[in-house]
Amino acid sequence: MKPYLFTLTISPVQSFISQARKSQDLFVGSQILSQLMGKVLETFTEEERIFPQNTNAISNKIVLKLVGKDPKTIGENLERQINKDFINAVFKATCQYHSSLNNFFQVYWVAVELGDKYQESYKNLERNLRTVKNLRTFSQESQTAGHQKCSLCGERNFAKEYDKEKLCLVCATKRCDLQNHSNDSFPSLADIVTLDRKEKLKGQDAEAFLDANPSEKKHYALLHFDVDSLGKTLSGLPEKGQIELSEKLGEFSIKAKKIVDKSGKTVYAGGDDFLGFVNLASLFEVIDELYCDFESMKMDLTFTASILIAHYKAPLHKVLDYSRELLEESKNHFDDKNGVGIMVMSSNAIISKTICRYEDIGLLQKMKEKEIAKHIHFKLPMIFNTLSEMSYDEMLMEKAMIAVEIKRLLKRENPNFEKDDELKELHKKLTIFLNKQTKELSANRYKLDFENFIGFLKTLEQFRGVMQ
Ligand SMILES: [Zn+2]
Repeated sequence: MKPYLFTLTISPVQSFISQARKSQDLFVGSQILSQLMGKVLETFTEEERIFPQNTNAISNKIVLKLVGKDPKTIGENLERQINKDFINAVFKATCQYHSSLNNFFQVYWVAVELGDKYQESYKNLERNLRTVKNLRTFSQESQTAGHQKCSLCGERNFAKEYDKEKLCLVCATKRCDLQNHSNDSFPSLADIVTLDRKEKLKGQDAEAFLDANPSEKKHYALLHFDVDSLGKTLSGLPEKGQIELSEKLGEFSIKAKKIVDKSGKTVYAGGDDFLGFVNLASLFEVIDELYCDFESMKMDLTFTASILIAHYKAPLHKVLDYSRELLEESKNHFDDKNGVGIMVMSSNAIISKTICRYEDIGLLQKMKEKEIAKHIHFKLPMIFNTLSEMSYDEMLMEKAMIAVEIKRLLKRENPNFEKDDELKELHKKLTIFLNKQTKELSANRYKLDFENFIGFLKTLEQFRGVMQ
C-alpha cells in the first residue's frame, strides 16, 4: 500500500469553548477538546506524526504520514472514536445521554497519496481539506421545538439543573466534569485578579474579598495569541522542515504555558495558538517573556496577540468573543500581521481599544510609570478632527501639528520638560508611534488612523486605573 498524507480537524471548537459563564466552564471545555484530540494522537507513532509533534501541545488539527495503513478505515474509525469518547465524557459527568450528541463534533478528514514531491502532495491535502469543510453542511440533530433552552449556551435543550442553572448536557458536562480532572484546579476570575494579593486575602474567598473592598483593583488580562500564516509557511516546507517547525512550536507552547502559569492560568496551549488568564501585576513581564522566548526559537514566524483587560464581573462569554474579534482585527491591521490588540473592558462595556506592535507596549509601560500624558487623550480630539482623506503632504503637515500640540500639552503638564531627557525620549517615541498611524487609501490619498492613536492614549489612561 502506498504512503498517504492524512489530516483531520474537528468543529465546533470556538463556540464549544466560548460557551462559558464561569472560568471552570472554559477550562473543562478546553480540556475535553484536548483529551479527545490527545487520544487521537496517541493512536499514532512518532514517525507517523507530522503536526503536532509534541503530544502535550494539542491542536485541533493533526497531520500524519501513514505507511501501510488504509486512510479510509482510519478516518472513519477516528470519526466514530471522537464522538463516542465525547458521549462517554458527557455520560460520566451527567449520567445522561441524548441522541443529539451522536454527531456533536463534526470530524473532517482527508488523505492524499504521497507522491514524489512532498510539498505538492501537502498542498493538495490542504486544498482537499478546505473543500471538504466547505462542502459538508452537517445537520446536527435538531432540538425539539417548544422545549426550554439551556441558560448557558441558549442553543441546546435544558436537560440538567446544576447550581440553580438550567443546563443542556454539553454545558452541564463542563460544570460537573470535575471528578475527571481532579489533578487540576480551576481558579475563578476573582482568584486570577487577586493572585498578587494573597497575603491580603488571608484565606477568604477572592470574590467576597473583592466585593467587600471597593478600592481593590478588579481587572485581569485574557491573553490570546495565534501564529501568523502557519498554514502558508508549512505548505512551503519539505517534510523535514515541517517536522522541525512543528517540534519547535510544541516546545514554545510548553514554555508559554509555564510563563503564564507563574502569574495566571493557561486555558490551552496548542501548537499554534494560546489562550490564558494573567494577573495584571505581571502582565508586562509575561508579555516580554513570551516575545523573548518566541524570538529565541528562531522559527522565522511571527504571532498576533490580543490582550483583553476585563473586570472580573464582565460576562465571560462576551470577554471571549471580544478577545477573538480583537485578535482577528489585529491580524488584519498590518500587512505583515505581527500586531497586538489591547482592549480594556468595564463590567459591561468596551472602554478603550488600540492595535499596535509589541515594542509599543514598552512605550505604554514607560509612560504609565512616568505618569505622563494624562489628559492628551481627550484634549487632542477637541483640536484635531482628522477624518478625511489627505494627500501625502497634507498628512505630513497634520502629523507635525499634532506632534507640536502633544509637546505643548506635555510641557504644560510637566514644566521641567526641557530638562527631563527621559520625558523628551518618550515624547519622541510617541511621535514615532503617531507617524506609524498612516493608511494608504489609493495613489497619493492617505488617512491618519487618529482613532487608533487616541485609543492608545486612552488605553494608557485605563492602565493607570486598573493596574496597581
Ligand atoms: Zn448549553
